[in-house]
Amino acid sequence: MIDNDILHLSRPGCSDEHDPTAITVDVAQQSIIDCVKPLASTEQERLPLRQSIDRVLAEDIIAEMNVPPYDNSAMDGFALHADGIPQNGTVTLKVVGNSFAGHPFFEGCTSGECVRIMTGAVIPAGCNTVIPQEHVELLGAESIRIDGRARLGENVRFVGEDIRLGQTVLTCGRRLTAADLGLLSSLGINNVAVMRRLRVAFFSTGDELQTVGEALQPGQIYDSNRYTLFGMLSRQHCDITDLGVIGDDPMQVRNTLQLAAKSHDVIISSGGVSVGKADYIYQVLNELGDIIFWKVAMKPGRPLTFGRLQQALFFGLPGNPVAVMVSFSQFVQPALQRFGGEITRPPLILRAVTSSLLRKRAGRTEYQRGILSQASDGELTVCKTGEQGSGILRSMSQANCFIVLTADQTRVEAGSTVIVQPFASWL
Ligand code: AMP
Ligand code: MG
Repeated sequence: MIDNDILHLSRPGCSDEHDPTAITVDVAQQSIIDCVKPLASTEQERLPLRQSIDRVLAEDIIAEMNVPPYDNSAMDGFALHADGIPQNGTVTLKVVGNSFAGHPFFEGCTSGECVRIMTGAVIPAGCNTVIPQEHVELLGAESIRIDGRARLGENVRFVGEDIRLGQTVLTCGRRLTAADLGLLSSLGINNVAVMRRLRVAFFSTGDELQTVGEALQPGQIYDSNRYTLFGMLSRQHCDITDLGVIGDDPMQVRNTLQLAAKSHDVIISSGGVSVGKADYIYQVLNELGDIIFWKVAMKPGRPLTFGRLQQALFFGLPGNPVAVMVSFSQFVQPALQRFGGEITRPPLILRAVTSSLLRKRAGRTEYQRGILSQASDGELTVCKTGEQGSGILRSMSQANCFIVLTADQTRVEAGSTVIVQPFASWL
């Protein structure tokens, strides 16, 4: 747990590397896990299969049938009983019928007989093996000659070999993929229970921010955080509400937070979380809700307020555009997954050789932006995307991974091995 007392210490500036009031990334992530309770399993809706893509399954799926539902042929050829395969030499079999996909042969066959069969067609009664047509000598339309090379069960797909009746095929908490939709439809399932979408509101704060489409006045910059947040949230499959730009005014911040908390599960702001004269997020959250932590020993993204506002979770992200994306990826996205009932695996962490010299001061975990690539011998190499300032959004746009440098690391020479976190598809 976070010691509440640290929240009431004076708030040092963000320029010191060693800040005793900042918690580590691991501690922050753990405290989010401890704090976020998944939606109750009753908070679900039933959707037609196609609409359930990318949604979180709210039930276990237990197979009520076998897939495939019957033994069928894996080849075009001739179905027979393996007892009819000669030990040596050849044997002639009578072709007594056809079994085509969707058109079974219902009569079956006995010793000395076979059935012409196509891929996917039902194996007729009395047969257990399929000989591909390339291994057969046709003797007119009525009979074939085979040799002894076939083996019992060859080229037969057995009933239930993909999914067995009674088997649990997908479990609650799974985010449904294209393969899952196919799997469900192969079981004849046309609707599933999924968790409801999370309702997420976000806004930017800052008197200097102008919305795209409007002319920039002196001293203004365009608001980019609402667009990166929109992009990242859209890919988390949440219901999102863009609350726009809020001025550096505690009253406006208060009103916006109070209103948003009424009808959202998660509220995300950017800017106004550090110690400047116009930074009100901390103060207002402290007044209206509970602060769980407000500073993480990381770069970019140290000032980061996490807390609760009534039943909603609140993330006060820093204003710097790169810090928004880094802190979203490390904290907000895992929280959304957990809140939304998704069962996740830890992200892939790889090791790669850096071709850039990486500089850093001791004290904070750093998320430098890198381009990861693979040499022809398979070795992973990474280079940094130029300037690493937390306002340089191009470094994110060009990157495909974070180079994660631990708090105690300092200068990392080119040629050293570093830890990289490849970007998820939603970044
Ligand atoms: P703040 O955390 O409010 O002090 O902001 C830190 C830096 O990020 C300042 O240079 C801001 O102008 C910039 N910034 C804050 N919000 C945004 C935004 N929505 N879009 C682009 N830059 C921003
Ligand atoms: Mg600001």
